[in-house]
Amino acid sequence: MFDLDDTLVMTQVLYDEAKIEMWEYMRAVLGDRNTPSLTDFLRLLDGIDAERVKTLGLTPERFVGSMELVYGEVYRRKKLRARALFGAEIRHVSEIAQKVFSGKSYRKQGLVQSAERVLKFLKGQGDCLVLFTKGDLVTQAAKADALFGDSDEMKNLFNVNVFTEGNKTPEEFSGIAKAEGFHPSHAYSVGNSFKSDILPALHADFKGIYIPYETWKYEMEDSEKNIEQYRNERSILTLYDIDEIRQLYWSL
Ligand SMILES: [Mg+2]
Repeated sequence: MFDLDDTLVMTQVLYDEAKIEMWEYMRAVLGDRNTPSLTDFLRLLDGIDAERVKTLGLTPERFVGSMELVYGEVYRRKKLRARALFGAEIRHVSEIAQKVFSGKSYRKQGLVQSAERVLKFLKGQGDCLVLFTKGDLVTQAAKADALFGDSDEMKNLFNVNVFTEGNKTPEEFSGIAKAEGFHPSHAYSVGNSFKSDILPALHADFKGIYIPYETWKYEMEDSEKNIEQYRNERSILTLYDIDEIRQLYWSL
């Protein structure tokens, strides 16, 4: 069972690109004197976004809104007089943020190196492959389509795609195993987030393959504490490259 974001496709970098582009835009429009340092800008944006995720969840609207709010906040902090162009500037910021969620960006980003090879290898062994991803349903479906929709072979890699808006729960893991007819103790959940991909899977009797890439504050919460607590757990394997799954396959 595979997580999508930052496991099969690196998406965090798309957010980073948007943030940098917005910062460059502010320099161009407001001038260096009125633009916060990159560090301050990122701190401000990440703080506002982490706060909003609690109520708005993993939606494109949240991220786009956070970027717009920060633009207004910079105006306020720098005591800039509202300009006639403010509306147009906000629209531009909004467009920068929306690029993160476009099929074009996902297609350009593509699967992480060796992911395709690993998935095809597992398929060749007759394994049941499940894509299990959380986030905004429309965005996730568009993302999966952009990444897997171009060829029949890629489209048919997964036995089933499961999208969930909330956090992944042990019940969902159990439910998928039951629906697909495999026993959880023979299954692995592969993901980059300990909290979202590994812990609920362990609670459903799955094994975990943890490929850490946790740069987002929201996902990091409790992660280190949890990892420490489960360090000696034999059912978790920590890898640093997805290709190791292929190399270790016969000893799994
Ligand atoms: Mg992920």
